Amino acid sequence: MLYLHNSLTKKKEEFKPINPGKVGMYVCGPTVYDYVHLGNIRSYMTPDILRRYFEYQGYEVRLIKNITDVGHLTDDDIAQGDSGEDKIEKKAVQEKKTPAEIAKFYEDDFREVEKKMNILPAQYFPHATAHIPQMIRIIGTLIEKSYAYEKNGNVFFDVTKFPEYGKLSGNTLENLEVGARLEEHPDKRNPWDFALWLKAPKEHLLKWESPWSIGYPGWHIECSAMSTEYLGDTIDVHTGGEDNIFPHHEAEIAQTQCATGKKYVNYWIHTRHLKVDGVKMSKSKNNFYRLKDIEDKGYSPMALRLLLLSSLRQTQLNFTWKAMDQAKSNLQRINDFILNMEALSTSQDTESGFDIDSYQKRFEDAMDDDINTPLALSVFYELMTEANILLMKSSLKGQDAKKILAFWKRINSVFGLELHGQVEIPQEILDLVKKRENARKNKDFQTSDKLRDEIERLGYIIEDTKNNNFIIKPARDAKHNDAG
Ligand SMILES: [Zn+2]
Repeated sequence: MLYLHNSLTKKKEEFKPINPGKVGMYVCGPTVYDYVHLGNIRSYMTPDILRRYFEYQGYEVRLIKNITDVGHLTDDDIAQGDSGEDKIEKKAVQEKKTPAEIAKFYEDDFREVEKKMNILPAQYFPHATAHIPQMIRIIGTLIEKSYAYEKNGNVFFDVTKFPEYGKLSGNTLENLEVGARLEEHPDKRNPWDFALWLKAPKEHLLKWESPWSIGYPGWHIECSAMSTEYLGDTIDVHTGGEDNIFPHHEAEIAQTQCATGKKYVNYWIHTRHLKVDGVKMSKSKNNFYRLKDIEDKGYSPMALRLLLLSSLRQTQLNFTWKAMDQAKSNLQRINDFILNMEALSTSQDTESGFDIDSYQKRFEDAMDDDINTPLALSVFYELMTEANILLMKSSLKGQDAKKILAFWKRINSVFGLELHGQVEIPQEILDLVKKRENARKNKDFQTSDKLRDEIERLGYIIEDTKNNNFIIKPARDAKHNDAG
């Protein structure tokens, strides 16, 4: 039974889907005005692992990840996030490009990073600019129901009409009043109200017609429009980085529930920030790492993936180059181990004494406990240790290796690690191996030697081991091993 820590209730809750066998997931995607950084990658890994584990359990998952290509505003420190410039527009002006060109460029970067990180693509990546009518419809409903009000072409959500406002973030209105740096807007009734629609100044590039003004949507309404459009009024799982909790997700809950009259999200899943060398990432500290920075230092995206899998999403991860080294060497260990198992699995014995079931149970127990990937990985590391000891004593058999490989394949559908050099021995080679084995059994050593040469010519090497066993591997790997 899968338990997930729900940021809304602050408890671990048993996962129960709305529709049996199906899961709907919404992921707050990138605002495409800058490169994807390590913190973003970490927060996109969380829904990827969760989605993979749902699929491992047999669920059919529909995952929607939006592309914010308008309306995410510049001043992050302003708690209500509804003043300042559009980030994409600002960049467009800086780089003398159109907003669409900026959005496309950074969306391509985002897609490439996700691909390299082996983050499975969402079923759909809706763009905010393509969903303006849906946003206008929800805003219209909110005004009709008196949750929102219009003044001078601007529309705001009145948070005093929604008593649950602040439940997700723990921000009460009183706290907000005292603590938050709220941006004044002359048309707001309450300083903590947030914008649903803003009238565009003349020079604004991205603007649309609406019943209230020629303007543009607030950031929060985008996600409500796109999530309900593709997943319905109530969603199983909604994820995001911890910086999305307030005001973004708080606002999403308020406006969506008031518009639909239904519960918006059953499980809120958030990923904590990542620090670099113990400090917050920031442009001024020059530690705003991208995937490219990691690769330039000679690490593979998969080593980064392994590093991210080795920490819990609810704890702050401290990224260091030392930790990257560790991840790189762990990845190599896994890689070598799988290659050894593949080689051993080609031997023809039928015995097996390796108990894989207990490992599988422990893997699932770890994942069921709020997606504890570090613990799930440690289960596999233990398996490797046990198998390597048996291997040294020559008591690990081909059948054991087959079982281990099948287990790895299954759990790696969740970890999502692409191993380099992982090979499947072609059937043609396996047939020749079988012939050679028969020849050897019949003590026809001339034929057996000829077949061995033939196999080598095709790029594979047979190594005879104890107990009349043998393993087969690609010649390049054999060479690699000889070199130590
Ligand atoms: Zn969002």
